[in-house]
Amino acid sequence: MVGFDTITIGKNKNFCRNGFNRSNKKMPLYIAHEEGVTVWDIWPAIRAATELLKSANAKGMQILNIGTLNNYKPETNSLELQKYASVEWYIANAIYTPEMTDKEIPEEGGQQILAGSETKKLRAEQLLEDLTKEPWRDPKQGRENHYDFLIVNSELYMPRGNGNRTIKVDAAVEPGICAVMSVTQFDYIRSDDKRTRHEHIIIGTAYHLGKLYGLESCNKACAMNKQMESTDANSVRNYRSFLIHKNVLGKNLLCDDCRYKLNDYFNPTLFSKIRNIFG
Ligand SMILES: [Zn+2]
Repeated sequence: MVGFDTITIGKNKNFCRNGFNRSNKKMPLYIAHEEGVTVWDIWPAIRAATELLKSANAKGMQILNIGTLNNYKPETNSLELQKYASVEWYIANAIYTPEMTDKEIPEEGGQQILAGSETKKLRAEQLLEDLTKEPWRDPKQGRENHYDFLIVNSELYMPRGNGNRTIKVDAAVEPGICAVMSVTQFDYIRSDDKRTRHEHIIIGTAYHLGKLYGLESCNKACAMNKQMESTDANSVRNYRSFLIHKNVLGKNLLCDDCRYKLNDYFNPTLFSKIRNIFG
C-alpha cells in the first residue's frame, strides 16, 4: 500500500486553521488572476486543473474561472465581505513596501527589490493568509468553502528560515485551502512562442495544484516529480521539457502512484478514512 500523508493543519485534522470544516474534499476550485495576466496564461492553467481532476476521478468537482473580480460589487451588507471583494485588494495588501525591504535582506533577487525593478513584488505569505481567512469561504456568511488558485504576473517572495531572509518563489501553497502561482516563472519562454509556453504552464500548474490537493513530490515521470521543486530554474525547465517530450499532455500528467493518492484524497475508501482518523 502506498503511504498517504494526511494533511494536518491545526490539531483537528477535519478542521483547517481558519476553522471551516474540511472533511469534504470535493469543493469547487476557484481560479482567479491578477489584472494583466493574459488569457494565454490562464487557459493552460485551467486545462491542467481539468486534466488533474479528471485523472483523479473527482466527479462533480467544479472549476470556476472567477477572473479579477475588480469591478465586482458584492450585494451584501457584510463589511467583511466587502473588504475582501476584489483580487486587487488581495494584491494591494501583499505588496512589498520600502520599509519592509529595508529591514529584510533578500537572498535572491534582492538587488532588484532595492533597485525597484518594473515587476511588482508580492508577499506570498500575506496572500495565503488573506485567502485562508477570507469570509468568502465561510458557510456562516452564506458562502461556499472552496479551493482558491490565484495566478499573478508579479513576482512572489517568501520569508525563509527565521524570517530574516526572503527568497523569490514560483508559487506558495496552503494545502487543502489555497495557492498562489506567478507566471513570471515561465518567462524563460518567449511570450510569442505560445505553444511551448502553453505546454510548460500546464505542467507547472499541475505541480502546484497537486500540492494544493496534498500531493507530495515523487520519483516517477510525473508532474509531481521532485525535480519540479529545484531552486535551479534551468533544471525545472528541463524537466518540464522532458515530460512534454514523454507526451504526458492529454494523457496522464500524473504517475500511477500520484493518481492513486489523488483519487484517494477525493474518494477515500473506508480503509483510508480509518487510517486518517488514527493517523
Ligand atoms: Zn508521481
